[in-house]
Amino acid sequence: MNIYSCVDTESDLTDWGIEIPLLYNRPKKITEYLQSQFGKNIVKEIDWALLSKKDLMLVHSCDYIESLFNNTTVDGVMIEIYELQKEDGSYHRFDPRKKVKDFSELFYHQHAEASGVYYCAKNAFLNNTDNFFLSGGMHHAMTDRGRGFCTLNDQVIAIKKLQFEHGLNNAWVIDLDVHKGDGTAECTKDDPTISTLSIHMKNGWPFDETWLPGPWDISSTVDIPIGVHEEDVYLKKLEEGLNELKKITPNPDLVFVADGSDPYEKDELESSKFIKLSKEQMLKRDLLVYRFIKEMNVPQQWVMAGGYGEFSWEIYAQFLERVVKT
Ligand SMILES: [Zn+2]
Repeated sequence: MNIYSCVDTESDLTDWGIEIPLLYNRPKKITEYLQSQFGKNIVKEIDWALLSKKDLMLVHSCDYIESLFNNTTVDGVMIEIYELQKEDGSYHRFDPRKKVKDFSELFYHQHAEASGVYYCAKNAFLNNTDNFFLSGGMHHAMTDRGRGFCTLNDQVIAIKKLQFEHGLNNAWVIDLDVHKGDGTAECTKDDPTISTLSIHMKNGWPFDETWLPGPWDISSTVDIPIGVHEEDVYLKKLEEGLNELKKITPNPDLVFVADGSDPYEKDELESSKFIKLSKEQMLKRDLLVYRFIKEMNVPQQWVMAGGYGEFSWEIYAQFLERVVKT
């Protein structure tokens, strides 16, 4: 497994007055730990360039992309994506007095994130190798909107661009984040070349729309909802789901993995609390998926997705420590 990072993807949300425990230093802590074990060159900076608007529109609507690049509309869009304002106008996890940067700059970091994911996945696909990118995984972003802290669906953008320019045929997206990969399901619903698996909390996301039908209800190819106190069957159900996906689409040319660490019992996001896997279970989860794809002899592109609070980085570090030399 090769490990790549991109310094432009790292944004400290407190610079925008945002009070969500998505710590910008996760890649740095993972890198420092791995360097202490394997030496300075274990994590490389990805060679990348910003994707064009046309690239982003391979997945997202023209109106949505234009609203992100427009300085008069980007503030409202980012406030919605980060859920910073309630319906009554009051602020939520947001203190505008502490905001020292423009929201257009926050969008720049997400644009860089989607771009880095593409270049890392291109590297994995063209060189038939396994890569982990220390960023990415904005799996709630839908074709016409961002949501749940996710602006651009980096994984689907990368797949579509690789299909368009580099002859990729079928791809899988395996989503291990504790929240359902509803954006990825919506972005790929009419595309038989992209198969998706999401293992997630049965309840808890989305909170406010569960009583309304909508794009968040669109099924993944394989959905694995996990109820409260079902941690003991999590790994068995995940393995069954992987086998089911393989029956449906036996020969992918590239597999994406959204390696959310938020099912971890020490995760600090309130909405992650309905699945609590131990550190050992998290390692078994990651190794199960890694070895399953490895046996299929298909290149893997891993991205970070959600993980909140000061212990999140440890989950990635323990997995990478095990696979970096394989
Ligand atoms: Zn999540």
